Amino acid sequence: MEKNAKIYIAGHRGMVGSAILKKLEQEGFNNFVLRTSNELDLRSQTAVAHFFATQKPDYVFLAAAKVGGILANNQYRAEFLYDNLMIQNNVIHHAYLAGVKKLMFLGSSCIYPKLAPQPLQEATLLSGYLEPTNEPYAIAKIAGIKMCEAYRSQYGCRFISVMPTNLYGENDNYDLEKSHVLPALLRKFVEAKQADSPSVVVWGTGSPLREFLHTQDLADACYFLMQNYDEPEFVNIGYGEDISIRDLAHLIKDLVGYRGEIIFDPEKPDGTPRKLMDSRKLRTMGWQPKIDLRTGIKQILQSKFGLD
Ligand code: GDP
Repeated sequence: MEKNAKIYIAGHRGMVGSAILKKLEQEGFNNFVLRTSNELDLRSQTAVAHFFATQKPDYVFLAAAKVGGILANNQYRAEFLYDNLMIQNNVIHHAYLAGVKKLMFLGSSCIYPKLAPQPLQEATLLSGYLEPTNEPYAIAKIAGIKMCEAYRSQYGCRFISVMPTNLYGENDNYDLEKSHVLPALLRKFVEAKQADSPSVVVWGTGSPLREFLHTQDLADACYFLMQNYDEPEFVNIGYGEDISIRDLAHLIKDLVGYRGEIIFDPEKPDGTPRKLMDSRKLRTMGWQPKIDLRTGIKQILQSKFGLD
């Protein structure tokens, strides 16, 4: 990407989009075209068509999506399917029509079959049934990957897809019903400590394993791939290690300094037993993450909750 290139980040106020924007600013880019969801409803074909025809960005990062944790994915199944399909169809198609030089589509590790061999290799896409709780979201993301592949093969578009593992970082969602596990547990333990509550409830059995990557690392990887990668196959972006929800709860408890009890609620879903990504493809290209989980969590406890 040339330093004066016009860059559109769809979803620039979200956790991922804002991290990408920050990274690009640090790298000296300054010609951004940005729209909030109020200014541009990406589900509207007419609005997106007008936006691309008039703005004609050179590069696009497609980080806009309806996202949420395990309960939200399950409860708002129609919205997760419809909103995400509409957003990505509109942006990818109109990026093609507007002659965008390169586009990056961001997916998720939930695209893989529920029981795919671990670590999750790119080649296992569509080799088995999906995890039911987030199937609508996963189907939309798989369609996005296929859109990029198809537009590349039929029209020669330089559209690439990347699949990040579970993410955490600045501008996360802390809604206890809709968020992902890491921000939810940070909030629960901080509030329990402040209120001197005797216990904190953690959903599920505690046995599922999850891999977590800081969004600063993700943004770094996205920038790296946008500069260095131009192939049809999508690329996993992971940290390389996973942790059980039980151990994550204990780690956050210790870092927060909470002394009460942890209670697991098996009435809540566990979701996929494990989703560690195989990130060898990206590693062999020469990229690796810098922020370990403990350091990343401490950083958020400080910036978001004011804890040292
Ligand atoms: P997933 O990675 O798509 O399954 O999404 P989540 O981040 O929402 O959940 C990951 C795991 O953490 C699941 O096994 C949840 O049951 C578990 N979990 C434990 N406590 C919580 C919580 O307070 N909120 C959420 N979202 N998940 C929790």
